[in-house]
Amino acid sequence: MKRTSLDSWIKEKIGQVSKEELKIKDLESYQLKRLRETLQYVKEKSKFYNKLLKDVNLEKISSLNDISTLPFTTSEDIKEQGTRFICVSQNEINRIVTLQTSGTTSHPKRIFFTKEDQDLTIDFFHNGMATLVEPGDKVLILMPGQKPGSVGDLLKKGLERLGVESYIYGLVDNVNEVLKIITEKNINSLVGLPQQVFALAKYYKYNKNTDPISLKSILLSADYVPNSIIDELKKVWNCQVYEHYGMTEMGLGGGVACDAFEGYHVREADLYFEVVDPTTRLPVPNGQYGEVVFTTLTRKGMPLIRYLTGDISRIIEEPCPCGSPLKRLDKVLYRIEECIKLESEKILTITQLDEILFSIEEVINYDAYLTKLGNKECLSINISSPFSTGDCLNNAISNKLLSSATFGELIEKKKLVLDIKNKFISLDQSDGMHKRKVKDLRG
Ligand SMILES: [Zn+2]
Repeated sequence: MKRTSLDSWIKEKIGQVSKEELKIKDLESYQLKRLRETLQYVKEKSKFYNKLLKDVNLEKISSLNDISTLPFTTSEDIKEQGTRFICVSQNEINRIVTLQTSGTTSHPKRIFFTKEDQDLTIDFFHNGMATLVEPGDKVLILMPGQKPGSVGDLLKKGLERLGVESYIYGLVDNVNEVLKIITEKNINSLVGLPQQVFALAKYYKYNKNTDPISLKSILLSADYVPNSIIDELKKVWNCQVYEHYGMTEMGLGGGVACDAFEGYHVREADLYFEVVDPTTRLPVPNGQYGEVVFTTLTRKGMPLIRYLTGDISRIIEEPCPCGSPLKRLDKVLYRIEECIKLESEKILTITQLDEILFSIEEVINYDAYLTKLGNKECLSINISSPFSTGDCLNNAISNKLLSSATFGELIEKKKLVLDIKNKFISLDQSDGMHKRKVKDLRG
């Protein structure tokens, strides 16, 4: 098994020159040094942190564990005080990313990057992509990439450094067209959103007129990646399917799977990860689930200290089968804000539904709503399917949910009522880039 490509990259970044294995002790002293420098820097340069860290004595941060004495940064802080985070002059800001936020009254969330910050992302994409492609391969990027500094643009630049040719298509708006490009340009690797690449695979599988294509790897990013989608892609294209974890606040990239396909190795020279209890916000031991928190160690424009991501995951305790001593973050279970508490105290998330519904052959996409029907809770699911299967498909879905460990008992005891509809869609229809979620309409 090939060791994660992040291993040698991080070893170089922390300045370990010996030919020996990456030493965690060296990595940790690098992280502590960077953490202290970052704290000093934001206290001086950022209005927000100058106030937040007013009473923090930096001399007392003498080990990485001391990070738990520092205050957190929330998404709300960024929304409300965006520009107060900035540590450089306005003309040093090279790119501003505005993120969609929920609620109509809240300010948009804006993240600011300098040229140096963007270069760190390119460097991560360069070294992270080495996990799945090598010089001579050709990658099709199915993510936005027209604007300079957008995710597709930075990914293309990273791939260039790796000696890998790539083409930016953007989000999949025409499946047929994408498949044609894959054939014409001899593409053998894809980077895209899970549901979009899934739709592409289904179209390829069922449309007998498409030319055969041969892929070696796929990287899925920007949304929860259901195992049911990974299984289908592997079946259709007989290729390796890797997952990337990241968010704009992390500088787009956060971590990438290795050939062991168990969680993601994280970019530890740029980001320090912790997992905390979502209620008490106290650190949880490795192996235990909690909210993912990160601190930037190398960012200049808008460094973030103990940023609460809203993602639930855990640090995997066991050493990685690939042999790297780098930290691994497990697959994200769900986002806290997308988690709906049912009256039975059980929780409902889109990720649970994804796993169940995408394993049904006829399902290509769906919307889900939770409503009230009299005094009962009702889960409405609108399935998009390229097969006109009517009630037959609806029954298959009901049965699958009924036999699931997550919802079976609730449905059987009639605590949760199902309302399933399906509509025919042409296989070449695809969605835009938005985080999919179950809408809570219980009022
Ligand atoms: Zn590994």
